[in-house]
Amino acid sequence: RAKGDGGNKYQFYANSMSLDALDSLRMEGALRRALERDEFRLYYQPQVDIATGAVIGVEALLRWQPQLGPMIAPDDFIPLAEQTGLIVPIGDWVLATACAQQKSWRDAGLPPLTVSVNLSARQFQHRDLVGLVARLVRDTGCDASSLALEITETAVMENPQAAVAIFRQLSKMGVRLAIDDFGTGYSSLAYLKRFPIDSLKIDRSFVRDITDDTDDAAIVHSVIALAHSMKLKVVAEGVEDARQLQFLREHGCDQMQGYYISKPVPPAGIESLLQNR
Ligand code: C2E
Ligand code: MG
Ligand code: MG
Ligand code: MG
Repeated sequence: RAKGDGGNKYQFYANSMSLDALDSLRMEGALRRALERDEFRLYYQPQVDIATGAVIGVEALLRWQPQLGPMIAPDDFIPLAEQTGLIVPIGDWVLATACAQQKSWRDAGLPPLTVSVNLSARQFQHRDLVGLVARLVRDTGCDASSLALEITETAVMENPQAAVAIFRQLSKMGVRLAIDDFGTGYSSLAYLKRFPIDSLKIDRSFVRDITDDTDDAAIVHSVIALAHSMKLKVVAEGVEDARQLQFLREHGCDQMQGYYISKPVPPAGIESLLQNR
């Protein structure tokens, strides 16, 4: 007990701490069971080529649909999955499911789509990611060059040397690599030059006020110019209206995704979107 603290205050603090601990313990158990019960789903958000308007890819986004209750968004369970290490088996499921989906869309005769999968830092450091991806590509029959892995700038910077080595091997297999949430971390484009990456995804927070905030506009403008000078494609996240799209088009941004085109949808939603375009 801290000096001078009243007994009641300590009591209150201790109780709220153990409640938090109990909550995460319960949640951890629920997450574990979710895998066994097959309660995870992948939703897909279309990615559009700004110049042509064609849907050229989709980003796989994880959802948790418990047997009872509403669907749970990744921000509400991925942090705990990362802390507990459960993100590794969950991430394996995500990769396998996304690869199988890509193959099945290809078999169904849909136009070729690059399927992007988010990786957490933990998956990246944890085990033989390269071997896992190679196995999955072989087992599902998906096309490695239509598979993209997204890793945040922050996760890359946790261990840049390891990241370079892993990126090189993945890139050799033909897998595309994207830096996610670019602009929210501390890397510089000059530094990223040593990574064999294909694209940068500009974080949604910069796109939001692009048409009103001159700082954000300047940042996005210069990120696009610098990325292009390094032969990287630029993808804008979180495009919600025509004016944002207009700005991005005028500044030569390559691709975009956002509610303006579509929210993330189940696989059937992607199929009907492609048929209706
Ligand atoms: P992210 O990879 O940066 O994904 C983009 C997020 O922005 C998605 O949220 C997407 O639904 C949302 N978004 C897209 N367009 C718009 C828009 O126009 N407006 C707004 N307000 N939001 C938009 P979501 O699906 O909730 O995912 C949140 C984050 O969770 C992802 O951010 C990613 O970091 C993480 N995540 C999702 N799926 C996975 C996964 O399978 N594995 C791992 N490790 N992380 C994942
Ligand atoms: Mg992403
Ligand atoms: Mg992002
Ligand atoms: Mg994000």
